[in-house]
Amino acid sequence: MDTVDAVVIGAGVVGLAVARGLALAGQEVLLLEAENAFGTGTSSRNSEVIHAGIYYPAGSLKAQLCVQGKKRLYAYCEERGVGYRRCGKLIVATSPEQVAQLTQIQAKAHANGVDDLVLLSQAQAVAMEPALQCEAALHSPSTGIVDSHALMLSYLGDMENADGLLALNAPVQAVHLRQGPDSHPHVIVMQDGTELACQTLVNSAGLSAPNLAHSMTGLPASCLYTAYYAKGNYFTLAGRSPFGRLIYPVPESAGLGVHLTLDLGGQAKFGPDVQWVASKDDLQVDPARGNAFYAEVRKYWPALPDGALQAGYAGIRPKISGPQEVAADFVIQGPSTHGVPGLVNLLGIESPGLTSSLAIAQGVQTALAQAACIA
Ligand SMILES: Cc1cc2nc3c(=O)[nH]c(=O)nc-3n(C[C@H](O)[C@H](O)[C@H](O)COP(=O)(O)OP(=O)(O)OC[C@H]3O[C@@H](n4cnc5c(N)ncnc54)[C@H](O)[C@@H]3O)c2cc1C
Repeated sequence: MDTVDAVVIGAGVVGLAVARGLALAGQEVLLLEAENAFGTGTSSRNSEVIHAGIYYPAGSLKAQLCVQGKKRLYAYCEERGVGYRRCGKLIVATSPEQVAQLTQIQAKAHANGVDDLVLLSQAQAVAMEPALQCEAALHSPSTGIVDSHALMLSYLGDMENADGLLALNAPVQAVHLRQGPDSHPHVIVMQDGTELACQTLVNSAGLSAPNLAHSMTGLPASCLYTAYYAKGNYFTLAGRSPFGRLIYPVPESAGLGVHLTLDLGGQAKFGPDVQWVASKDDLQVDPARGNAFYAEVRKYWPALPDGALQAGYAGIRPKISGPQEVAADFVIQGPSTHGVPGLVNLLGIESPGLTSSLAIAQGVQTALAQAACIA
């Protein structure tokens, strides 16, 4: 049986960052990707926003890794010439009741170490964005956008320069976790039946990660999670964007509300909304959902013309908490949790996973370094 030091399953932005980190740390790394190209999953179906770290519960991994990841990501993009823009965003209160929520959001952000938010009056907000209608707003200057494909290509280049290998069309079927004196105890079974042994294994399979963990013989049942899928549909705006910054309403329960984001070419899109679905492959956008977007968007941009929104694309949030549950934090499940040396499962890596990718990669190395204790 072939052996390799470290295997990372899944070449999305997180798997690429993890594989890069392990390769740069001197490990022999093989990155296995089921599809015929890297980055075709959730990593190519998101808003490409570098989040500031505003909304997440204080002390959560999402809060910590977003704030750390944002700093690292800006520095990385600058150093490597990956396209990005620190365009800033406005969180807008469109009713008097929502104005108080802005102060709460500012306090929450402060607890996460995001202390650059500025509360704006209606006049100040409109001076920044004349097309905007609002009662008041919060300005987040450290929010930005990034070319996620250029970022992934750059991570891949770093990994390959450090002698890491990417294998495409390489779907993993199951994993046998073993403990003992063997130097490469864990056995990976590919869909074509071939087997591969490794010492370190990182499950970064995104939407499939919880089910892949279920396929791991030797993982305690207490460490298994159910996968839930919350689709986010986008509608693109025909014509020029009326805004130069990202515009977000005060957030709703499972998502951040129907917001406006921009890409580096200046194209504006609205979304994502929240649609719980049964399948991770349910990626069609139903044009009828656009009707609800008009009303939401017109709360902050009343001039949105009829017929200006076109069905765009959808991405699916890899949830590990259901629609009626409190949103789960990122899970970086290492040996100190499950008791299996050399294994990390990355579960529930939804937004802000892109922003946090470099910090998650560091978190994986920290988890691997921690001693196994019984789960
Ligand atoms: C609608 C939406 C908007 C978002 N917006 C933002 C944003 O603006 N900013 C931000 O920071 N984050 C955002 N996110 C979150 C971000 O996109 C994700 O956190 C990130 O892309 C997750 O990357 P990943 O590598 O974990 O997963 P993925 O990109 O899904 O990669 C997983 C890979 O694993 C592969 N795979 C699966 N099973 C197997 C197997 N058995 N064998 C081999 N390979 C396998 C898949 O083919 C896939 O390529 C958003 C997410 C969604 C859904």
